[in-house]
Amino acid sequence: MSAASPDYPRVFVLPGRDKRAARGHPWVYANEVRMDAEAKALAPGAIVLLLRTDGKPLGVGTFNPHALIAFRFLSRDPAVCVDEAFFAGRLGRALALREQLFDAPYYRLAHAEADGLPGLVVDRFGPVLSVQAGTAGMDGCLPQVLAALDTLLAPAAVVLRNDGRGRALEGLAAEVRVVKGRLDGPVEVKEGGLTFLADLGEGQKTGWFFDQRDNRARVARLAKGGRMLDVYCYAGGFAVSAAAAGATEVLAVDSSEKALELAALSARVNGVAGRCAWRRADAFEEMARLDAAGERFEVVAVDPPAFVKSRKDLASGLKGYGKLARLAARLVAPGGFLFMASCSHNVEPAPFAETVAEGVYKAGREGRVLSATGAAADHPVHPQLPESAYLKALILQLD
Ligand code: SAH
Repeated sequence: MSAASPDYPRVFVLPGRDKRAARGHPWVYANEVRMDAEAKALAPGAIVLLLRTDGKPLGVGTFNPHALIAFRFLSRDPAVCVDEAFFAGRLGRALALREQLFDAPYYRLAHAEADGLPGLVVDRFGPVLSVQAGTAGMDGCLPQVLAALDTLLAPAAVVLRNDGRGRALEGLAAEVRVVKGRLDGPVEVKEGGLTFLADLGEGQKTGWFFDQRDNRARVARLAKGGRMLDVYCYAGGFAVSAAAAGATEVLAVDSSEKALELAALSARVNGVAGRCAWRRADAFEEMARLDAAGERFEVVAVDPPAFVKSRKDLASGLKGYGKLARLAARLVAPGGFLFMASCSHNVEPAPFAETVAEGVYKAGREGRVLSATGAAADHPVHPQLPESAYLKALILQLD
């Protein structure tokens, strides 16, 4: 792909600690690397050649001597040159997949390791790109990545959303910056034949949750002809989809006034504002209030922020999901549907399903699981990182 093979600094895997990497795993941890003076002196994010101590090269990747995940593979080819052409190749492959999956240019274009781009997330909103570098390695490669994106897509505007949680672990500062063009207010998102609005500068994550695309369509179908409650509605993805699919009435709840304003705007754009009500409230409090008022809905969708941000929060986070499921289940009309999601990557699918099941039962309800799904296909999973399939979603029918 590239001409000269550069002379990258060398980092060695400790004897016997290369087995996971040899099986195709994309990471090497700090305690598996020979942390000699040379390795320690490397700048965080340096591109290095990884070798076994017997001299056998394993591949090229980014290295951060201060991070738990010290080495991330970019290529198994020890002669690869990580330049603009390299990133153009990876991004071009990612683009070809999305173009095969979707009709319109609104999707997650690059999803980190699964697209051979560790630490990089790119969301595409038609002519506008939202770019996030989560590792020192990818942060250092941003000039080449941005140049490759320019050549590939000639975007009108590019926003760097470098405020992801992972950056602190890599010793990186948070910053949000428009690096190309201008952002004049919210941008459009086309999804499921509808037009939504997303705030790429101040919105959550990269501005829009593309990962729920398929789940929004599933939930919307079930909401036809009934009342729908969207808890943690953000910019109205579930709510507006349900209203457009024929829900008679939609109530959507979020604690963020800005998110609710955008959601209301999206409802107007799609001609469903008359059937949508937006309420600023705490999710738990509002659900308890609705229950006390005897309100019932044919569909209740609950898509909270991550409750388990680190392993130590697992027990309390699961408790939170259980309580949510209990409150939400009570609000589902007989024969109606409950959608519950978790985007905490520390929560495995089985404990999540058990917690939801328990919450539903505690609410005095019985029913059946119709589907257990995850993120849409523009969020592919590296085959050796099944734990990166962070999104879990269940749909239950309750009697
Ligand atoms: N369902 C949305 C994504 C939800 S993101 C979609 O399809 O796009 C999580 C949302 O929860 C954010 O909009 C945030 O403002 C909101 N939120 C966080 N804590 C909350 C709370 N205690 N009560 C209500 N909303 C809350």
